[in-house]
Amino acid sequence: MEIRNFCIIAHIDHGKSTLADRLLEFTGTVTRREMKEQLLDDLALERQRGITIKARSVSMRYIHQGTPYEVNLIDTPGHVDFQYEVSRSLSCCEGALLLVDAFQGVEAQTVANAYNAMEHDLKIIPVINKIDLMHARADEVTEEMESSLGIDPDDVVRCSAKAGIGIEELMTAIIERVPAPTGDANAPLQAMVFDSNYDDFRGAITYVRMMNGTVKKGQKIKFLRAGSVHEVVELGQFVPQRKSCTELTAGQVGYLICNIKSLADVHIGDTVSTPGNDAAEPLAGYQRPKRMVYCGLYPSDGQEFSDLRDALERLAINDPSFEFEPETSDALGFGFRCGFLGLLHMEIVQQRLESESDIDLVQTAPNVTYEIVDTRGNKREIHKPQDVPDPNDIAEFRQPIVRCNIVVPSECIGTVMKLCQDRRGILRGNEYLSPTRSMISYDIPLAEVIYDLHDKIKSGTRGYGTLDYELIGYEPANLVRMDILVNGNRVDALSIICDRGDADRRGRAVAKKLKSEIERHMFEVAVQAAVGSRVIARETVPAMRKNVTAKCYGGDITRKRKLLQKQKEGKKRMKAIGSVEISQKAFMSVLSSG
Ligand code: GDP
Ligand code: MG
Repeated sequence: MEIRNFCIIAHIDHGKSTLADRLLEFTGTVTRREMKEQLLDDLALERQRGITIKARSVSMRYIHQGTPYEVNLIDTPGHVDFQYEVSRSLSCCEGALLLVDAFQGVEAQTVANAYNAMEHDLKIIPVINKIDLMHARADEVTEEMESSLGIDPDDVVRCSAKAGIGIEELMTAIIERVPAPTGDANAPLQAMVFDSNYDDFRGAITYVRMMNGTVKKGQKIKFLRAGSVHEVVELGQFVPQRKSCTELTAGQVGYLICNIKSLADVHIGDTVSTPGNDAAEPLAGYQRPKRMVYCGLYPSDGQEFSDLRDALERLAINDPSFEFEPETSDALGFGFRCGFLGLLHMEIVQQRLESESDIDLVQTAPNVTYEIVDTRGNKREIHKPQDVPDPNDIAEFRQPIVRCNIVVPSECIGTVMKLCQDRRGILRGNEYLSPTRSMISYDIPLAEVIYDLHDKIKSGTRGYGTLDYELIGYEPANLVRMDILVNGNRVDALSIICDRGDADRRGRAVAKKLKSEIERHMFEVAVQAAVGSRVIARETVPAMRKNVTAKCYGGDITRKRKLLQKQKEGKKRMKAIGSVEISQKAFMSVLSSG
């Protein structure tokens, strides 16, 4: 049978899921009655947040001018955090629908995704969606696509996924414009693993795109990177539910089930072949998932440590790109250091933890992954401020730099450029997409982006600005670890890594905040911010005066009771830093203020 493999790429909310549903319905893959809205986003959280987190695939059958076609739609995640997964999915397709909202127009992720698809040599079918909208401005958006991406206006297909307009034209475009896959069914088995998920009964389900050869039920396969050999107990395609068959051949998209007990054994980007001497070459582009953002997660009640560990373990089974290991903090007790692909990934994991268990969490300020070259020339990765060595031992301190593409209404350019420059951004490009919209490119330290850039761009453009970024590498910078000391004792959970030029300002802010949160003791409490042995800010919590206590314990009985009650609650959550007792609430308020 003729085969076409394609994906849909779009900025969030431009209608990717709705269009996927319409195509499934149009091809009769799913009847209207069976159609639940947005079938492809099957994780509850995805639906709630309206984003597609993991790639999915579905096989449709379609007859075009008397010829039957197998048309495979591979769904790709839309967010930068999952760039590597997007890239693996793209390498399984020959074509991409580049979907743009007829009102919103070209956005940062539209551009990033389109470049990505071009790099993978995909045939791009430009599509303008939501033409049913009263304020649709399809002609202008066509112009934006032409000027930002060099799209030929004659190639643009207009549709409405919601109203079902233009769907047949789109199917025809897919059949006629997307090239057929070129694999050889008689060559040695070679298939790309582009996704996996975990089924409680069947174990790991491996999603594959067959590049060459044939795989049959019952045969032995080998994951070339992982080096593991398995027997295929079931294989098939998603239509959209799993439907088993007896073999898959070059060009097809489907799944393998091999009695694999953990997702950690299935690596996205790995190549499936056969054990033995006639195995195919591994496919190019394999990478380990790279965690770019780390934070500490602590149960706010120390009793819940083992519950938190169980919850994290459950999460990791379904999400191999998330990692965690136990750590201890003087201030927060026992908890875990957790690594994420990016900020959104971190938010998703936290939300899952909160919705799937009811553990109250304390999160430390997130930091990116740094590289340090010490004076002996050894290079290592740093995942938390506590691991930064003495400044005298550091020869070079490197941080990740990302290329940010920001699409904004033209009148906001000045505001956004100032935001980027204040965060050590270097301007790389500035172009008009249309008379009213521009795209600016900056290279900015990732640490600055995750600290507050995204929020600031949103608020500085009344929500219209969109940001997308990709890692371009590590560069040396003037970085320091800033510590917070309470009566001379370092509070580990409050150390941060920042640019030397920002240390004073951030140190002063944290010291001030902490001062206001620490209750008075019988002695004076010094709160200091320091870089190495140099103190950059100091605040003092004065000692308690006798008459203050006397007043409290005076005649006012309700006030006295309140005070006692408060003390009792506070006691439970007090942490000692040296001889100073600090409530956990105080730490949390400092952490949440960034
Ligand atoms: P995704 O984030 O790209 O998957 O976008 P969705 O498919 O979730 O759509 C985002 C929103 O746009 C939803 O509220 C859809 O109902 C709406 N939408 C999608 N396609 C159309 C369309 O053709 N016309 C209109 N008016 N709304 C649409
Ligand atoms: Mg969606």
